[in-house]
Amino acid sequence: MTGNANSWKACRLARLGFLNAACLLVCVLATPATRAWGCKGHQTVALIAEKHLIPEARQLVEKLLGENPIDPKLKRWCGNATNDLLVDASTWPDDVRNERHNSTWHYIDIPRGKHKGLLAEYCGTDGCVTRAIEELRVILKDKSTEPLKRAEALRYLIHFVGDLHQPLHAINNGDNGGNCVPVKYFHHEPLLNPLHPEREDYSPNLHQIWDTEIVERDMEVSNPHRYADELDEKFRTESAVWEASGIHVDNWAWEVHERAETEVYDAFPEKIGIEPDVKPTACSDNNHIGKRMLEKHLAVGEAYQNRAAKAVEMGIAEAGIRLAMILNDAAKTNP
Ligand SMILES: [Zn+2]
Repeated sequence: MTGNANSWKACRLARLGFLNAACLLVCVLATPATRAWGCKGHQTVALIAEKHLIPEARQLVEKLLGENPIDPKLKRWCGNATNDLLVDASTWPDDVRNERHNSTWHYIDIPRGKHKGLLAEYCGTDGCVTRAIEELRVILKDKSTEPLKRAEALRYLIHFVGDLHQPLHAINNGDNGGNCVPVKYFHHEPLLNPLHPEREDYSPNLHQIWDTEIVERDMEVSNPHRYADELDEKFRTESAVWEASGIHVDNWAWEVHERAETEVYDAFPEKIGIEPDVKPTACSDNNHIGKRMLEKHLAVGEAYQNRAAKAVEMGIAEAGIRLAMILNDAAKTNP
């Protein structure tokens, strides 16, 4: 479903507030290359969380999602052939991000090179993933809020806790969260988007491979159900530690940010310097970041993949456990 390595990341450009007829056309024609963890990553996060829900949370989720279903007319990128309400919810926010103009809620642009401190300054006026999670938790807990709104808050939470654990959703290096960093992925050379060559958009790029390709290659012949079982088992010891540490969304963002520094950027043998703290509207901005990064000839093969897969597995497992913590907490405060 997301296997077309040459598909373009126009949907991701919603990150830039870029939404015009050309983008719409490309979004319709292309597979959703960059949708944060792709379908399977988000679904795995939901399935891990499900294993850790207390009965009250399970009930709350079933009731809210069951009684307030997703519009059956909505086009679902990841398909709608599932009876699992959490799995179905996990990909919904990407299906509505353009019409709801809330694409900034899916990430936080912490500039590369920053270390722990207040996050507020990196959360723009349109919001960011950490603030969205905090606000949505309040809505979910508030019994007086109308059920549809609470159901949507729940769907967003299921997705955003996943997004927050994709390393490139917690960092920006003047490269639009890695979207402007062309990479060769195994034998796939980065190709320029022929529809808008002047924008210097390439595919595959760093953001895209971390969303989808690295995860799916690591899954091999597995599916989200089996992958969730495997990761849940593999991180059993760590899970207890994550659970004991409590809900600290900002700390989670910093952890993921640090992971992006070491496992995404520093893992290349070629040095990728720290760029100015800017948010390009196209990859031709920031002094042609797209072309400059292309000239580094970054290539992902077995070594990078294996190291990245470890980070991906940990991030997905953490997201699943932490999502369950948030839902359990909501159910406890609101039986
Ligand atoms: Zn997302």
